[in-house]
Amino acid sequence: MDGPPADIVDERTRWCWADWMLLNPPKLHYPEEEPFMHETEITRAIVETYTEKFLDRLESDVVIAGAGPAGLTAAYYLGRADVKVTVFERKLSIGGGTWGGGAGCNVVVLEDTEIANELGVDCTPRDDLYTASAVELASALAYRAEKAGASIFNMVEVEDLVVKGDTLEGVVINSTPITMAGLHVDPVCTSCRAVVDATGHDADLLNILRNKKKDFHPEEIAESFMDVETAEQGVVENTGEVYPGLYVAGMSVCAANGLPRMGPIFGGMLKSGKKVAEQIASALSPQDASVEA
Ligand SMILES: Cc1cc2nc3c(=O)[nH]c(=O)nc-3n(C[C@H](O)[C@H](O)[C@H](O)COP(=O)(O)OP(=O)(O)OC[C@H]3O[C@@H](n4cnc5c(N)ncnc54)[C@H](O)[C@@H]3O)c2cc1C
Repeated sequence: MDGPPADIVDERTRWCWADWMLLNPPKLHYPEEEPFMHETEITRAIVETYTEKFLDRLESDVVIAGAGPAGLTAAYYLGRADVKVTVFERKLSIGGGTWGGGAGCNVVVLEDTEIANELGVDCTPRDDLYTASAVELASALAYRAEKAGASIFNMVEVEDLVVKGDTLEGVVINSTPITMAGLHVDPVCTSCRAVVDATGHDADLLNILRNKKKDFHPEEIAESFMDVETAEQGVVENTGEVYPGLYVAGMSVCAANGLPRMGPIFGGMLKSGKKVAEQIASALSPQDASVEA
């Protein structure tokens, strides 16, 4: 490529290559035919595909609020049982509290390997427990849930429930950037036959129900002190329906029942997710309910 003529490169004007290139940009050569990557076509691909995906999920069998380990495990097993399951996750990333392990050490601890093995997650025995990579578990959960048929929407917050009489008929959702910015923008709704509150410590859906239905128990939604063994058992035992059509799984079970917290051990979250999937699959179609492969 030609540079600036020698006679204009002098100390006085301080012309250099960069100046020359700015004034004489290289000519780009496009092929004769139509460009195959047109900007608006990329936009069209995104908008049309997302719209199709969303329209397909205006009606679901099950909506899960929260894509933490409990919600994603439930989504995986429900998807495998051919239940039409949709997950709404408030954050940009899915996986909830899995990524950080304990105090930012991205390792998770499990009591057994049954569910992790099914997901293809490598576990290492350590005394009576097992360790696994938090990154591997979160990624496997997300991947397996979608591959099993669950449809996951991130950056979507469940902000209310559709309840008619005493029947839960759906959820009210909004885009997280809108709710975060506090914009005065109405949400939209999707319908379903069952909802899982897998929103973790916040137990968002339970709180919504309790605030609007004064006769809904428990009166207080909060977990208790740390007690790993009691909590790990309790979270699985108490997983289930708390209101017609509304189920709890994961840490929201502890909040609903005043159970102790269990710290960064994740076996109970996975088992709770699997259990709620079994319960819902059986409630929706008792004759052929099976979440097993
Ligand atoms: C800050 C922090 C504190 C923790 N403290 C404890 C503890 O005290 N005890 C303990 O046992 N474990 C604790 N953990 C570990 C870990 O959160 C849990 O053990 C485990 O991740 C809970 O799994 P889960 O699936 O029930 O919920 P989470 O992993 O918390 O996942 C819930 C998901 O729901 C989403 N969500 C919440 N509300 C909504 C909504 N309205 N709509 C859509 N999505 C929503 C959240 O963004 C999140 O991704 C903590 C983790 C973090 C990050």
